[in-house]
Amino acid sequence: MNAITNGVHAITWTASPFRNLYDRRIPEWRHDNFYLRYAVGIPLHEIHQAHAEAKRGLLAEVEKRTGIRLPEDVMTVGFARRATLYKRLDLLFSDPERLKLISRNVGPLQIICGGKAHPRDEGGKEIIRHIFRAAQVLGDTARVIYLDNYDMSLAQILCAGVDLWLNTPHKPLEASGTSGMKAALNGVPSLSVLDGWWNEGHVEGITGWSIEGGDSSSEIISLYDKLERVILRLFYGNPSGFAEVMRSAISLNGSFFNTQRMVSQYFNHAYYPLKAAAND
Ligand SMILES: *Cc1c(COP(=O)(O)O)cnc(C)c1O
Repeated sequence: MNAITNGVHAITWTASPFRNLYDRRIPEWRHDNFYLRYAVGIPLHEIHQAHAEAKRGLLAEVEKRTGIRLPEDVMTVGFARRATLYKRLDLLFSDPERLKLISRNVGPLQIICGGKAHPRDEGGKEIIRHIFRAAQVLGDTARVIYLDNYDMSLAQILCAGVDLWLNTPHKPLEASGTSGMKAALNGVPSLSVLDGWWNEGHVEGITGWSIEGGDSSSEIISLYDKLERVILRLFYGNPSGFAEVMRSAISLNGSFFNTQRMVSQYFNHAYYPLKAAAND
């Protein structure tokens, strides 16, 4: 049997603005997630509106937890996970000066991240300290918010409310990486190393973008180049082009990387060998 790719529970991980939109446009999606492929016919402004509502929900949660009110119209990058070394949670902060330049040259950027380090995981704690140091260097040029106590309810709000989901684990250590699937259900494209599920879910410029390169230093260059030359330019220069990527993230990835497809594949793949044996 081939490996069957993971999926996430679609209804659990779809935030209410998108649940309402799908209920209205493709009501069958609840009992059959494959119907999310028809999201491709939803008008772009409705995708944009549902996302704006999810984003306001996230920014309100950030304000509630930190007292910081972030602007709604700034490109918001998110990532979260257990802060352990191989996840390289801090890859985005490898060169804060470059981030500042990007923010000044193309358009502002803000970053919301969440995580939890195991109390005995020194490497993980060092990563979090690195993020705090970078946040100081970046100051107001690119605000960084670190949210403690990352749990499922925060994940629901964060994966749905950012404009871009970032995933930078050390290849090939990522078993799957389910957060990007949660984001896709809410029309949030990923920028990710080609590892885990992104090997299958990635269509460049259609469902999101890949971080290329064979080692950390080339990956860092690719990460900044894609942000600067492709993603931020699209976000600020061509909002409907960006909304098209959001929409195809739903129809190509939300429709597929869910637990319904996973269970039916388990059934079909496990059932087929039995049938083949019976026909011998
Ligand atoms: C989804 C989720 C994870 C797993 O995220 P990955 O992208 O698979 O690493 C971890 N913690 C919480 C709270 C989650 O919701």
